[in-house]
Amino acid sequence: MQTKLTNSARTAARFIKSGDIVAFPTETVYGLGANAYDEKAVRKIFKAKGRPGDNPLIVHVAYKRDISVLAAEITPSAKKIIKKFFPGPATVILKKNEIVPDVVTGGLDTIAIRMPASKIAREFIKACGVPIAAPSANSSGSPSPTSFVHVLKDMKGKIPCILTGPDAKYGLESTVIDCTGKHPVILRPGSITLEQLKKLDSQTKYGRTSRKVKSPGQKYRHYKPKANVRLIADFGARIANSKNKKAFIGLSKKLAKGFELVKISRTPEEYAKNLFSFFHKCDEIGIKTIYCEKISEKGIGAAIMNRLKKAASR
Ligand code: AMP
Ligand code: MG
Repeated sequence: MQTKLTNSARTAARFIKSGDIVAFPTETVYGLGANAYDEKAVRKIFKAKGRPGDNPLIVHVAYKRDISVLAAEITPSAKKIIKKFFPGPATVILKKNEIVPDVVTGGLDTIAIRMPASKIAREFIKACGVPIAAPSANSSGSPSPTSFVHVLKDMKGKIPCILTGPDAKYGLESTVIDCTGKHPVILRPGSITLEQLKKLDSQTKYGRTSRKVKSPGQKYRHYKPKANVRLIADFGARIANSKNKKAFIGLSKKLAKGFELVKISRTPEEYAKNLFSFFHKCDEIGIKTIYCEKISEKGIGAAIMNRLKKAASR
């Protein structure tokens, strides 16, 4: 299959209209989208990614009014979050309407909905004229793409079209928030933090995904580069003695001595933005081990540590 690159939202939308799939930029990471109402098209996403069928997709809308078409009920907790954080890097989980095919939601009776803030993403969804079901545009299990070059490297020949655009502003997937209950429950941390959500509802909590898997994606291998990922708070002899090509990413300059490749970020937000892009770069130049600095799980640190722990798990 030939993979067409285009910077025209309308050209990319033609692929969606003819029942095909398209990778497109958003402010979180690049997505791989299909018409959410077209079961056959949505199946192509799972096939191209090698994604397990019970891992549901996020449905992306260009207008708030589309939320009530997709969801059976917009709960009071969802209303507050939508008002404050849509468009943006927040995804709400609500009971789904029958119009949404089961393949989109992995058979769940709930649906994940997000309205991207990215201008080109919204232009694309508008040109498609339908809500767009989309997970991240990478092979299942590997780090999410934050630039169209990452998508091209991973998905070339597997998808018919990439809508090219700017690098992702956040570089981290959206915060997934279960709004079906009385109070919001965070199923996946992201750029919208627990602290921010607590300002809307002080009872907001993280979900315990280990006991009962509410967000199915959380049980699979995730975000793994080819290199081994090690989390470190400080350096020991094990690192100093290693002869393999190694890299470091983190906040502390003083830790970053003796590596092939180093990325120091000034803030946790910058760390989040640089993380997946750094993983891609490390794989490109054959780094064997990536040492990632552990940071405090406050604010966006919770999302960074969530991704790092998964990337480092064996
Ligand atoms: P991705 O876009 O690749 O980051 O994957 C979408 C994420 O949203 C996965 O972690 C899914 O498990 C989660 N998700 C999608 N739909 C639902 C749902 N109905 N309930 C809970 N989590 C969901
Ligand atoms: Mg993903």
